[in-house]
Amino acid sequence: LPAAADLVDYNYAVAGHDGVLCDADGELFIKPCTLPEVAFYEASIQDHPDFAEYMPTFLGTLELSDNQNVSIEEQGAALIAKRSIPEPVVPTKTGKRIATNTAVVLENAAHGFVRPNILDVKLGVRLWADDAHQDKKKRFDLVTQETTHKDLGFRIAGMRVWQGEGAVGADIDQDGYKIYNKDYGRFSVNTSNVNEAFRNFIFAESAGIDEELGCLVAQAFLADLTRIQEVLEGQESRMFSASLLFVFEGDGTALRCAMEDASKPAINGNGHHIVDEDEEEADEDDEEEENLPKIYTLKVIDFAHAQWTPGMGPDENALTGVRSVARILRDLGKA
Ligand code: ADP
Ligand code: MN
Repeated sequence: LPAAADLVDYNYAVAGHDGVLCDADGELFIKPCTLPEVAFYEASIQDHPDFAEYMPTFLGTLELSDNQNVSIEEQGAALIAKRSIPEPVVPTKTGKRIATNTAVVLENAAHGFVRPNILDVKLGVRLWADDAHQDKKKRFDLVTQETTHKDLGFRIAGMRVWQGEGAVGADIDQDGYKIYNKDYGRFSVNTSNVNEAFRNFIFAESAGIDEELGCLVAQAFLADLTRIQEVLEGQESRMFSASLLFVFEGDGTALRCAMEDASKPAINGNGHHIVDEDEEEADEDDEEEENLPKIYTLKVIDFAHAQWTPGMGPDENALTGVRSVARILRDLGKA
């Protein structure tokens, strides 16, 4: 694991609290978190491997400071200053941090993409866990009433979509990503235009993601989401306000290349392309997976209020959202 002093601000978060960090080459995603979230990662790896497959790889925890007087935010700022890395403005976060000095170290789901398009879909009709305070329950119930959580069991918490080289315009950042902040899913998306919202994520003509490519992306996401649905239907858990994190290659040219690479017939018959026949086979598999350009990934994230709950049956609250998103992807995937 990296030392706390080697971390930099993570600028690709599309939702959630402030204070997320990553290591210098962007392979790791480091998030201040509560102990129940750490416990859920550990329990899942231990006892629920088929679900853990859809969690970001958990690499451990990090104590960001022993000094209770220095916040993670202050430490983060100091770390960034020390490395003199410019800090682009990300207007999508809440500006709030959680009070903790523990952080989970996860695989960065957006690593390895040329232009990662990212969508955070927050799951649930009910958004609060049993231990929430009365005012939080009221606040979250209002969010449910006012958004797609009510009828569909999810809302779009945030997304970023590459618009092509040199794209400029409203809500487009300096790298050409259109930023849909938390207000988008709160106030602009409703049950009658929600398919359109997903279209905005998956299809971007100006970035070279045309109908054909977009349909393939929707189908790929649907395949993974169907598997996630099956796993959740077969297990007993409660996850309040967890998210589906969708990432795919937002550069149409790079996406097309990655897809062509992946569909090349495997030379050694086990799905891996051989580059150097002299390499040891174990190494070969690892390196090949690392080097193949990324197409897409779908993960479940944000387990601050998640538990395995034997005896309680499947999590219909989260499954409502999963099934709704699956329905939308099925629709978008029709050529
Ligand atoms: P919070 O409790 O602050 O909502 P989340 O776990 O939802 O924390 O993470 C906040 C944001 O950070 C997500 O919306 C997503 O954009 C990004 N994020 C979370 N986990 C990862 C990961 N493993 N890799 C890349 N980005 C991530
Ligand atoms: Mn979140």
